Amino acid sequence: MFNKILIANRGEIACRIIKTAKQMGVLTVAVYSDADKDALHVHMADEAVYIGPSPSRESYLLGDKVIAAAKQTGAQAIHPGYGFLSENADFCRNCAAENITFIGPPVGAIEAMGSKSAAKNIMEKADVPLVPGYHGDDQSRDIIKKAADDMGYPVLLKATAGGGGKGMRQVWSENEFDEGLAAAKREAMSSFGDDTMLVEKYLTQPRHVEIQVFCDNHENAVYLFERDCSVQRRHQKVIEEAPAFSMSEELRAQMGESAIKSAQAIGYQGAGTVEFLLDFDGSFYFMEMNTRLQVEHPVTEMISGQDLVEWQLRVASGEHLPKTQDELVLNGYAFEARIYAEDADNDFLPATGKLTLLKTPVESKHVRIDTGVRQGDEVSVYYDPMIAKLIVWDENREKALQRLAKALSEYRINGVVTNIDFLYNLATSAPFKAADIDTGFIEKNHDLIFHNNEKPLVNELPIAALFLILSKENKAKQQAQQSNDPHSPWYNANAWRLNEANLHTIVLAHNDTEYSVTVEQKRKGNDAYYSIDVNGEKFDCQGEILTTPHNDDTIVATINGHRSQTTFNHFENNISLYRTNGVFNFTQILPDCGQSDDDDNHGGLVAPMNGTMVSVLVKSGEQVSKGQPLVIMEAMKMEHTIKAPSNGTIDEIYFNEGDMVDGGAELLAFTAQETTSEDSE
Ligand code: ADP
Repeated sequence: MFNKILIANRGEIACRIIKTAKQMGVLTVAVYSDADKDALHVHMADEAVYIGPSPSRESYLLGDKVIAAAKQTGAQAIHPGYGFLSENADFCRNCAAENITFIGPPVGAIEAMGSKSAAKNIMEKADVPLVPGYHGDDQSRDIIKKAADDMGYPVLLKATAGGGGKGMRQVWSENEFDEGLAAAKREAMSSFGDDTMLVEKYLTQPRHVEIQVFCDNHENAVYLFERDCSVQRRHQKVIEEAPAFSMSEELRAQMGESAIKSAQAIGYQGAGTVEFLLDFDGSFYFMEMNTRLQVEHPVTEMISGQDLVEWQLRVASGEHLPKTQDELVLNGYAFEARIYAEDADNDFLPATGKLTLLKTPVESKHVRIDTGVRQGDEVSVYYDPMIAKLIVWDENREKALQRLAKALSEYRINGVVTNIDFLYNLATSAPFKAADIDTGFIEKNHDLIFHNNEKPLVNELPIAALFLILSKENKAKQQAQQSNDPHSPWYNANAWRLNEANLHTIVLAHNDTEYSVTVEQKRKGNDAYYSIDVNGEKFDCQGEILTTPHNDDTIVATINGHRSQTTFNHFENNISLYRTNGVFNFTQILPDCGQSDDDDNHGGLVAPMNGTMVSVLVKSGEQVSKGQPLVIMEAMKMEHTIKAPSNGTIDEIYFNEGDMVDGGAELLAFTAQETTSEDSE
């Protein structure tokens, strides 16, 4: 075994590899760019070497610098992770030239899989099933067109140099052929500088099922079952699961053996993934082989009980595979959800910013989190905006899916937009639960997943209002306990009684629509309850907020005799309700704070976006009144005035005039003076 390895990567995968190396007693060297000088992977590794400026082409993609770092630190092997240099044949060759072990396959295997047509030729010879089609050298239009006509439409044109879904066109009928071919060629030429095409039968409802394979240098090969990665957006995986649902033992064995054949056909060593399209009738077809560790490898680890990084290190150092095929046992069910800083409602626009709050579900044998960031870290423009991979395991699919939904509802992230709500809606949607899944899942179920606009809020509005009332009461109780003064107005822990007002209006905005909800405190015998009026419909509500030491804010609410639990995420004026039918986000609109001219800031004391602090108008310790301007920021050439959301005290100011401020950063600490006026009328 190696004494020391270098990890030529960053983020979660670098951290993931370091963890296993540590367990194995192998020393680790990280590499880092300017943006990552304080990153988690740098702190976790035993040593770290600076390799250049933030853009990856000036640092993480520079094979020579990485190799120099390995030589400088005496690392005997390099683990490339995924992405960056992991499938770069030249880098692999240069490592060998410097006598450094590349923890991955031999150069020949990487090269063999570099072209889709060449890969298909190899697989055809090895008797691995291929999607019917043409992948020959003769690129004349008539030959390709004849192949398409013969197999029948729809067909898929693909650039042989392709990747990431580029240079691909579906052609639905003969008359669309020429247009499709021209478009695919144009895109292929501009993306890869090569417009060689292949054409295959377009399967209309396939699943993406991939097999994890492992080969050592002693002619042993095994498959570690399969993963279903059909849920994709723009050909990028969103939620993966293992094993694949509705998979018979026979089909698993057939696909597993085909995958091993594919790997052996190219003299494979190490961890690899053979991707197949699985048609609804059980036929499956080779798509491509990824010659590296995949992002979604943890689901395989969860169901096989094996550490794939440990296997990689063992195989690369010349050991035999740790298990034979017969010794591998499939146990339970796992899901992985990729948590990204991105705006799912805005065409998955990547987001950047500082993770001002990052609390994760508790890790256990059921919940695993692979991440490369901590609270306070920056999601920068330079790299993939993945925040974490959330992996869950349980005995069967249904239980594992419940764990996934629960864990997603427990995540607390502020400072950047994330896709957590989108993942939650997806994971709790009826077709996903029923495993009615193929690669078109997101498009097909768009309205269900992005359903917030259409959802009736009949139950959610009273629950949200009840939550706000009860949190207010709880806060009052806490203050009473702290004050220890029986004469304090707070001692009677009912914030409502202060002004004798027992009818209150709460305004909640949901997707730009404002709802006015009135809440009246009532009594039936000894029982206090709230009568909540939503658009004239009255609900009798009682409830209790359960706060566990962890993030789990749950409200147990009984609405018109129906008792249910809802998980809450409450940050400033934003409230999210995690219900079994999806997530509901509300913003509480406080009565006029003098902010009607400032839509970006509903009284929040957090920077609305990256910008500069132009003026600080208050001092620490100062008492301020509601609506009073506190600081002025300039962002995107516009001034934003941050005003006091209520009467209160400024405890501390975190920035000076002229400072650069990251969007989402807390600007100042503010304690609101408790008052009932804001929600009473
Ligand atoms: P890339 O290398 O550009 O990612 P792939 O060949 O791996 O392209 O295909 C990406 C995705 O496109 C697959 O996961 C699948 O969803 C879809 N796809 C590819 N080939 C076909 C096909 N013949 N029929 C239907 N869908 C396909």
